[in-house]
Amino acid sequence: MVSPGLDTPVERLAGVGPRQATRMAKLGIHTVRDLLLHLPRRHEDTREVRSLALLAPGAEVQTVRARVRRVGSRRTPYKRMALVEAVLEDGAATATAVWFNQPFLVRQLRQGEELLLSGKVKWERSGPVLQNPQFERVSEGQLHVGRLTPVYPETGGLTSRHLRERIAPLLPLTELLADALPDALREQEGLLPLGEALRALHAPTSPELVDRARERIGFEELFLLQLAAQRARRRRLGGTGVVVPYDPDVARGFADSLPFRLTDGQRRAAHGILTDMAQPGPMNRLLQGDVGSGKTVVAAMAALMAHHAGFQALVMAPTEILARQHHGTLDALLAPHGVSVRLLIGATPARARREILGGVAAGQDTLLVGTHALTEDEVRPVALGLVVVDEQHRFGVAQRQRLRRKSEDIPNFLAMTATPIPRSLALTLYGDVNHSELREMPPGRTPVVTRVVGPQDRPAAYDFVRAQVAEGRQAFVICPLVEESDTLGVRSATSEHERLSTEVFPTLRVELLHGRMPSREKEERMGRFAAGEADLLVTTSVVEVGVDVPNATIMLIEGAERFGLAQLHQFRGRVGRGAHASHCLLFQGTPDPAGHDRLEAVATTQSGFDLAELDLRMRGPGDVIGLRQHGLPEMRVADLLDQALMERARAAAERWLDVDPTLSLHPPLAEAMTSFRDVFDLD
Ligand code: ADP
Ligand code: MG
Repeated sequence: MVSPGLDTPVERLAGVGPRQATRMAKLGIHTVRDLLLHLPRRHEDTREVRSLALLAPGAEVQTVRARVRRVGSRRTPYKRMALVEAVLEDGAATATAVWFNQPFLVRQLRQGEELLLSGKVKWERSGPVLQNPQFERVSEGQLHVGRLTPVYPETGGLTSRHLRERIAPLLPLTELLADALPDALREQEGLLPLGEALRALHAPTSPELVDRARERIGFEELFLLQLAAQRARRRRLGGTGVVVPYDPDVARGFADSLPFRLTDGQRRAAHGILTDMAQPGPMNRLLQGDVGSGKTVVAAMAALMAHHAGFQALVMAPTEILARQHHGTLDALLAPHGVSVRLLIGATPARARREILGGVAAGQDTLLVGTHALTEDEVRPVALGLVVVDEQHRFGVAQRQRLRRKSEDIPNFLAMTATPIPRSLALTLYGDVNHSELREMPPGRTPVVTRVVGPQDRPAAYDFVRAQVAEGRQAFVICPLVEESDTLGVRSATSEHERLSTEVFPTLRVELLHGRMPSREKEERMGRFAAGEADLLVTTSVVEVGVDVPNATIMLIEGAERFGLAQLHQFRGRVGRGAHASHCLLFQGTPDPAGHDRLEAVATTQSGFDLAELDLRMRGPGDVIGLRQHGLPEMRVADLLDQALMERARAAAERWLDVDPTLSLHPPLAEAMTSFRDVFDLD
């Protein structure tokens, strides 16, 4: 076999068969390079070897060095499990090691052989028993036991043991990997070279070195992220944006025309947006605020300002329901000010569509609301000044960019979201964005009373639903699944609809709605519920966005622990929109304390911002915002909440860009930027 290089496919390596190669592919490992960059999740320290006489029972992992006196196998009396047993001796004492369900070990363990073994110890009549210990023959280079052992992200059938054996002989190749960090920068920051860091992680010699290696890799991840963000920012601010002058009289006139007073938050957000739109560099701003916090009004004011300056605006929403709703709201708010607001969605009939496209191209229609239909090429505004995207994380970067590119000068961009991204993360994810936040609700809203409901309280909760319906109110029932999956025992909308309509509430009108229905049918069913023709709506997470039924006062969520905190908060935002007091009932599907704590957090916290922050701390950034969904590469080492390292990386990125704005001094750096193409406008 030729000696492998970085690009050698893993299946060409000794010891990697087609099955292992397939498993590696599942972890994204295709080549030797990938294998070297597959980093351990943690390390297990089995360096301290104790004599058999000193073993103590307990949860602690203990390591011994002993000779095999005898090996045997048998079946356990009750469950008939295969059990391999080895009697060990180290001169002073004896102990036993047992392995369950690994009958093949009987052939791997030889009498008289000296082993290092590491595992938890139980005490039995015969003395200490090592439970399923890791073991390895004593040799010159221990790979698995008696060292700082790397533990890798694994997949079924591909063990850390296997990975260690494949990676160890390849380690000299780490020298050939291009280091994305330029030497000068690396030295300034006192960081290890890439090759050294990788060897320290795969074959560590001390915990201190592991820490330094992790610092180095983590820094690189954050540095690249910051470099991409800061580059995009510089690029944007250097571009010519559409300037929409800020006319305070227009703003005041609009505010005075409203049937309510703007909240302070709305005033501040509007001021920030209008000021930003008047700057020469194009606006890139994120407006965050809970459902019902009044974001649409703020967007309306921005659109009106654009209209006054002779520009058009596009407002894009992720669903037809939401687009219709925005169209209704914006038309009501802006038509009195002479703005022609049109709606363009997939369902728009061809004739109307032609007429709208014509109006937009001629500049008569100044505000076009719609779904992703807006991104199509036929939508050609003559003077686009503002693009608003609602729930922008629902759209791909490409879709957003297609909207922005509908004009020669870069239009001002406003993203709105009710799924708040914690400030700490927003800084990173949208390093190139300004923020506005609506932290308070318009006056007159009563907060939604939220309770975690245990199994014994289910009947009482149903009585409560009955009583509310008797008073003319309506209820949502959210299920984690559309259809029953027998393995999980999770409640599904379909079977829950069946059960509720026949057994629990036979006299009530129970409607079903889920994402597998054709959109026409969804809209009809939603429409019936909104019109009060159904008492209960059994559904899935499809109701998350864009449902406005002020008469609904109960949000009942099955298997609530299966949803993220921010998502539960979103559901809750579907009620409490009318004059009546509202309730959110969180039913826990599987009783586990951690799940319960998370639900209690939702019950006691009303702010979506606080919940997002909490969710982030409880589950980690990967799960919460889905870096991939945002088009970002996964962080393998870096902690996105590590503000100190983030700040260090940001400063280093700024310094580097001052010297090398085009990233031409160190090619691996430019190369590394390609993975950020989808998030930041880098072309
Ligand atoms: P969001 O888009 O943030 O979910 P909306 O803009 O749809 O919220 O506003 C929710 C409701 O609150 C709308 O009916 C809107 O008319 C109303 N609203 C907005 N701002 C105020 C305010 N300052 N005072 C009273 N009601 C308001
Ligand atoms: Mg909204």
